[in-house]
Amino acid sequence: MHKNFKNIDHVTFGRGCFHQLAQTLLPIRHLNKKYCVFIIDAYFKNHPLAFTPQAEDAVFYIDVNTHEPTTQQVDELRDTLLNQKGLPSGVIGIGGGSIMDIAKAVSLMLTNPGSAVAYQGLNLIKNPGVYHLGVPTISGTGAEVSMTAVLTGPEKKLGLKCDWTVFNQVLLDPELIATVPKDWWFYTGMDTYIHCIESRFGQKNNAFSLAYGDQALSLCRAVYLGPQSGQNAENDDRLMVASLMGGLSLTYSEVGVCHALSYGLSKIKGTRHCIANCIIFQHLEDYYPLGVSEFKSMCKHHNIELPQHLSASWTETDISQMAEVSYQLPFMWEHALGENYRTLAGLEHIKSLFRRL
Ligand code: NAD
Ligand code: ZN
Repeated sequence: MHKNFKNIDHVTFGRGCFHQLAQTLLPIRHLNKKYCVFIIDAYFKNHPLAFTPQAEDAVFYIDVNTHEPTTQQVDELRDTLLNQKGLPSGVIGIGGGSIMDIAKAVSLMLTNPGSAVAYQGLNLIKNPGVYHLGVPTISGTGAEVSMTAVLTGPEKKLGLKCDWTVFNQVLLDPELIATVPKDWWFYTGMDTYIHCIESRFGQKNNAFSLAYGDQALSLCRAVYLGPQSGQNAENDDRLMVASLMGGLSLTYSEVGVCHALSYGLSKIKGTRHCIANCIIFQHLEDYYPLGVSEFKSMCKHHNIELPQHLSASWTETDISQMAEVSYQLPFMWEHALGENYRTLAGLEHIKSLFRRL
C-alpha cells in the first residue's frame, strides 16, 4: 500500500512574511469562541516579536529549555483553555520544534477527550483538531511539515501522529531565525542533514524522497561548508527551506540508525533530540561513511566540540534501557538495514552501539 500523506494546506515563505500573520488569521477568527491561542517560545518575551495579539486572545510564553514537550504539559494547557475560554478559533505556535509540537498537540487535544497519553501513536486521534498555524523560529527538525507532534509521556516518547496533526498554515520567515545561538543553529540544522542522509541510505528511498532530500542536502552543504558558510541572511533562507524539504523527504522515506538510537538516548537520559543525534551520528561511520565524514568536516569548520565518552559513566541498566527503546523502532532499523534487520541489529548489537558514545 502506498502512503497517502497529508501536506500543509498553505505555505507562506519570505523575509518579513511574519508581518502577514494578523491578516492570515482574519478568515478563521469568527470560528468557535472567536479568540486565538498563541504559544510562543519564552525567548521572545524579552525579545518581542513584531506582532500584537488581540485583546481576547490567550498568549502563553513557554520555556522549552528545561525539558522536551510532555503529555502533561499539553493536557494542562488544553484544560486551562477549555475551562477559561472555551474552544478557540485557532492555535498558533511560534518557536522551534518544541513549540510547534506543543501547538500541534494542543490543537488536537482541544477536540479529543482524555489525556494525550492515550493518543501517542499512529492514527489514534478520533476527531480533527482546531485550525493551527506554525511559525518556525529555528530551522532543522522539519516539525513545521511533519504529521507528528512528539511528546514525552510517562511510558514513552512518541508522537500524536495522524493527518490532522499537520499544520493548516505555516509562515516561513527566515528573518526570525537570525538570533538562534550558534550551537543550536548547528545541532538543529544537523537534524535536517541527518534526516536526508538517513532517508537516502535506506530501503525506502525513492525518486520523491531523493528529490527533496538531495536538494536539502545541497542547501545544508552551502550553509555549513560553502564559501559563505555560517549564519547570514542567504543561509537563513536556505536552511529554512532545507528543513521543510528534509521533512518532506522523510514523509516518503524513513529515518535510520541514528534516530533509532537517539530516541533511546533522549528517553533514558533526557538528551535533547538534535544534540543527541549529533552525539550519535559521529560514531556511525560504518553505516553512513560519506555522511559521517562530511558531518565531521562541518563540526570542524564551525568549531563544534561534541561530548565524548559519555558511556563511561553509564550503568549496564542505562544501556539496556536505551537499547530497549531503540529496539522498539523496527521500521527505522528495517529501512536502514533491510528485512534481515533483526539479525543485524539485535539487542546486544544495539547495546554495543550505545557503548561507542
Ligand atoms: P527547540 O524548540 O527545543 O529550541 C531550542 C532552543 O532555541 C531553545 O533554547 C529556544 O528558546 C531557542 N530558540 C528558538 N528560536 C530562537 C530564536 N529565533 N532566537 C534565539 N533562540 C531561539 O528546538 P528544536 O531543535 O527546533 O526542537 C527540538 C524539539 O523538536 C524536540 O522536542 C524534538 O522532539 C522535536 N522534534 C519534532 C519533530 C517533528 O516532526 N514533530 C522532528 C524532530 C524533532
Ligand atoms: Zn530528527
